[in-house]
Amino acid sequence: MASSASPWTWPGALSALVLFACCVAPQDPFLVRAQQAAADVAPRVHAILGVGPFSCEITITDEQLPGSMVAATSIDRCLVTFGRAIEPHPEEALYYFAAHELAHVHMRGYWETLPNWLEEGVAEVVALEVVPTAREDAESQMRVCEGRYEAYLFARAAGVDAVHQLAVRAHADGLAEIPEAWLAGLGALP
Ligand SMILES: [Zn+2]
Repeated sequence: MASSASPWTWPGALSALVLFACCVAPQDPFLVRAQQAAADVAPRVHAILGVGPFSCEITITDEQLPGSMVAATSIDRCLVTFGRAIEPHPEEALYYFAAHELAHVHMRGYWETLPNWLEEGVAEVVALEVVPTAREDAESQMRVCEGRYEAYLFARAAGVDAVHQLAVRAHADGLAEIPEAWLAGLGALP
């Protein structure tokens, strides 16, 4: 039996639609840029690292991130947060930061056998392979963070593929971390 008191009469439907439209905040243009940058670089990042793709939530924050970070991945590594501080930067910088953070997100499984300093170095190499035009600015930024530039130089000289092979081997051997002696075989450790 059809009810004559259906809530979806025209005036009711119309006010529901208007209410919905009023409650959806317009998307923050910085969030849109950050999400676009991440979406554009993700396929290259997972191709270079040979893993993924992993879906990843991209967010922005007005808060100051810890230390001098401008972007960060969460502990569970499925969330990338961009600090508002990089909003004025050109698209190239945003793409570089997106590629760097997504490299961290993708370094899971056997990639977790990398010591932290090397993970940073590999993330830099991956980001600059994806966005080579950011090299000059990125390298000068790396030089002001202790050990970062050296880690990047080591990873760049060794090559992502060689580090990849060691990570697979360490993981297959049940090791939590790639032994230093193996890394020393790739070049002088920083
Ligand atoms: Zn990093």
